[in-house]
Amino acid sequence: MNEADSLKLSAGLSKFGLQQVATDENADLVVINTCAVRQHAEERAFGQLGNLTKRKKDGHNFKLAVMGCMVSNNNKDLQKRFPMVDVWAKPQEFDPIIELMIEESDISSGEFWPETFGTPKGITAFVPIIHGCNKICTYCIVPLRRGREISREPLEILHEVKHLAKAGVKEVTLVGQTVEAYGKDLDTIQTDLADIFEEIETIDGINRVRFLTSYPVDMTKKIIDAVSNCKKVCEHFLIPVQSGSESMLKKMRRGYSILEFKKRVNYIREVMPTAAISTDIIVGFPGETTKEFEDTIALIEEYKFDKIHIAAYSPRPGTYAYRKLEDDIPLEIKKERLQILEAIQKKISIEKNTKLIDSTFKVLVEKEESGKCTGRTSSNQLVHFNGENILGDIVDVHIHEVSPWSLKGIIANSNEIAII
Ligand code: SAH
Repeated sequence: MNEADSLKLSAGLSKFGLQQVATDENADLVVINTCAVRQHAEERAFGQLGNLTKRKKDGHNFKLAVMGCMVSNNNKDLQKRFPMVDVWAKPQEFDPIIELMIEESDISSGEFWPETFGTPKGITAFVPIIHGCNKICTYCIVPLRRGREISREPLEILHEVKHLAKAGVKEVTLVGQTVEAYGKDLDTIQTDLADIFEEIETIDGINRVRFLTSYPVDMTKKIIDAVSNCKKVCEHFLIPVQSGSESMLKKMRRGYSILEFKKRVNYIREVMPTAAISTDIIVGFPGETTKEFEDTIALIEEYKFDKIHIAAYSPRPGTYAYRKLEDDIPLEIKKERLQILEAIQKKISIEKNTKLIDSTFKVLVEKEESGKCTGRTSSNQLVHFNGENILGDIVDVHIHEVSPWSLKGIIANSNEIAII
């Protein structure tokens, strides 16, 4: 989401004659686009702000803006800590940054932003289709910072995807905190994610469509069937479960039971046996007992996900958990649980990937540098192989070597010999 926001901001600034530069050293404006989902993310932003503050104090003349989830309605503490920041802009509030640079503009968000589409340098791009989040997960800061769910108009989304196709983009990832909630808040138009998939199918030039993140409850049969039926939509789901324990899910107020989550995953696997399914897990949520943690292990071992993003619980100011639940799991236990899950997942990934040796996959070439190519399969596996002048093509790659995180192969029918 932040990548998409940054691209949009740079598109907006370039409309007023500003140009993106490769490094921040001689820039007139430096924008830090922040994430606040975990404390660690905020600390990284603080580090950068510290460096930039120093540079300003040393006499470098540039404007400094902070945007994104770290910025809330009340930034008094941040303003005090970083007085050199010229402007604080909440997520998707681009206007204050433009106004900082362009004094006599007549910017009006309503007219200016919908038609301002960035052009990414690569051949993949993120397209936000729904902003904000209506869920009430007790640990999560995102709804507090990004507000309620607001879907973009379908025509505007399609217009943007067509723009990206013209710019050479081959794959779009439709993004939202809960991407399957798309359309629910639109009063005048009846539409959903499945409809958007079908519309994008017809756009020439775009060969692949991905989507994230899936919130289990919003995932309808219609949407799952559309993934299976639409040729361009990749059979890859990122469905955060957060915990394998029923009591933890309740405390997190995730709004579904383990059984409901399993039903969704089972249905996906029934319709698309080779679909990749990834998930997110939080370890060390307040009060998490050994037994509750073991329930998560059991879920992972039973479902053998393709990838898991594991995070140690981080109390976020303003959330229910921050106010009401004691952060009582010591850091060492959080770390230990995180490492246990990582080790289990590594074993699962090795087992799964080993089975892929000698298979051939369609890979979209996303990077090509001196004959070395990188791309992904439809199920989001990273693949390394050799090739020339194929950037943006979809090629058949025969796999001969695997690691838990990526595959290596050679282009099918090429004269190359695999050295193993
Ligand atoms: N909207 C999605 C996820 C968006 S946030 C969903 O929950 O369905 C991305 C991930 O960050 C979450 O899935 C969660 O695993 C992690 N996360 C969010 N808040 C967190 C917190 N306070 N501590 C640790 N991890 C957190």
